[in-house]
Amino acid sequence: MKFQDYYEVLGVSRDAGEDEIKKAYTRLALKWHPDRHQGASRADAEAKFKQINEAKEVLLDPVKRRKYDQFGRHWEHGQDFTPPPGARARPVAPEEFAAVFGEGGFSDFFASMFGEDVLGRFGSSRAARAARARRGHDAHAELRLGIGQAIAGGKRSFELSTTASCPSCGGAGTLDDDHVCPACAGLGSVRKRQTVEVTLPHAIRDGMKLRLRGLGDPDDDGGEAGDLYLTLVLESDDTYRRRGPDIEADLPLAPWEALEGGPVEIRTLDGTATLNVPPDTASGARLRMRGLGLERDGRRGDFYAVVRLALPETLSERQKQLIREMKGGMVRGGARKA
Ligand SMILES: [Zn+2]
Repeated sequence: MKFQDYYEVLGVSRDAGEDEIKKAYTRLALKWHPDRHQGASRADAEAKFKQINEAKEVLLDPVKRRKYDQFGRHWEHGQDFTPPPGARARPVAPEEFAAVFGEGGFSDFFASMFGEDVLGRFGSSRAARAARARRGHDAHAELRLGIGQAIAGGKRSFELSTTASCPSCGGAGTLDDDHVCPACAGLGSVRKRQTVEVTLPHAIRDGMKLRLRGLGDPDDDGGEAGDLYLTLVLESDDTYRRRGPDIEADLPLAPWEALEGGPVEIRTLDGTATLNVPPDTASGARLRMRGLGLERDGRRGDFYAVVRLALPETLSERQKQLIREMKGGMVRGGARKA
């Protein structure tokens, strides 16, 4: 396990007083609160926030701080660390700590140094919590889906990272006695990987929420499990492209279809739509179908079918002959040298 330099984490000196530590903690906790970070930087913020809370838990508790100062003096942050003999009568192994609090809260270093104190205290707060909770916690996750997948629908399996209220502190981030919750390190929520089977509904909308009953966290006391709420996010795929509120997709047309025009069936989020191709349509033309795009602020974007001239996969000898007879004129554009 790695040594944690809690003074370095909070940016204070080894002889910092309680006020100075509190001040540094408040400033850093505000800066790194995960709610203030979006996208990829959120995971970094979460890790930082946990570290800051762990440092606070040790440095603002006189007993823990004294023990830490006694054994931690000669180590550097991130250095490989083995608990010194005599650190405690019975060091708590990280596995034992994780069995009670789950993974992802306080570090292994914390578990080995202070685990025993925390394990002892936890019994009473767990009982108090169990008395409060009547059902398991709801969990939340984002389900990213290719537009083509959404259109195809059906039953599918997805591996998701779900976020649920922390079962140890009930989402408060602290235990009854104002100590930082070791299971979530003050975050109030825990993440886990979960595989779920989802039957995709018809007419999927971007941002739509699905509620999967009983797929949240099970209730420890045998009561009803929580629900899992999925927020659907539609993404571009090989066929359909997101363009702001609009969707764009290629529409291959045979030369005779482009020449004569006529109705073509298109697969959209709303099912099959009929597009009337005008006569003399050129390759590259963008044919619009109003209101069949994505939903934005209560309004629907449009669907653009981009015409590409194509030939059937197999051609008869006669068709090949007719194409040869088309010879004449010059095709221009793209990377082609004029
Ligand atoms: Zn917690």
